[in-house]
Amino acid sequence: MIRLEGLTKRFGDTVVLDGIDLTIQPGERVAIIGPSGTGKSTLLRCINFLDRPDAGRIEIGDLSVDAARVSKAQVLALRRRTAFVFQNYALFANRTARQNITEALRTVQRRPRAEAEARADAILRETGLADKAGSFPAALSGGQQQRVGIGRAMALDADLMLLDEPTSALDPEWVGEVLDLLRRVAERRQTMLIVTHEMQFAREIADRVLFMEGGRIVEEGPPAQIFEAPRDPRTRAFLRRVS
Ligand code: ADP
Ligand code: MG
Repeated sequence: MIRLEGLTKRFGDTVVLDGIDLTIQPGERVAIIGPSGTGKSTLLRCINFLDRPDAGRIEIGDLSVDAARVSKAQVLALRRRTAFVFQNYALFANRTARQNITEALRTVQRRPRAEAEARADAILRETGLADKAGSFPAALSGGQQQRVGIGRAMALDADLMLLDEPTSALDPEWVGEVLDLLRRVAERRQTMLIVTHEMQFAREIADRVLFMEGGRIVEEGPPAQIFEAPRDPRTRAFLRRVS
């Protein structure tokens, strides 16, 4: 089980995460929606300490971290249990598709080279990128680059996959292939916390949808409830704006 308790983050005087409480069950796929500037990315980034939370507790399985008194070893342990998919892919430009995946397995998980390479090859086949294994990111389309980014996260077999608007930097022509791959990841019951603007997609793959505004979870529920019968006026106003 994954549990956040009172997760709090300030940038200067601004409270960006205002004591987030959230429990995610293994295999659960949770989508986060909400206006921009609301703390969605910061929430994801605080879970693996890409941003350092000011207070709160993060529990993943038997690992329990108090943000106020965290050790370097605990941060590394959190990162080993999570995998992050970035809006802008965040691939190493001077590494091939295959190397981007093997490197993650070797540095984050300390896997032996041969094992990392075998895993990378399996993932490249699964994501339909076997023929791009030796290509550098600049030679790949946006859709292919993001499929490498997702493949890299898949390879880690993490307890929790964190995805921050994985399709919003893509040209429209590449969105479909990336959503198709994400559907497959979701079908495997990979535990996911995904920030997305793709409401139809969230509705399709999520077990639960969270609506965030002002650093808080304002409303949450099954997709049918959030999208068809939102209770909070802020959720309703947001959905009217984006639909
Ligand atoms: P969202 O992902 O919902 O659009 P973010 O989590 O990116 O929102 O940002 C939430 C708020 O925190 C915004 O007001 C943003 O300007 C601020 N913020 C995010 N990152 C930083 C930072 N590194 N330094 C200062 N302010 C930041
Ligand atoms: Mg964001």
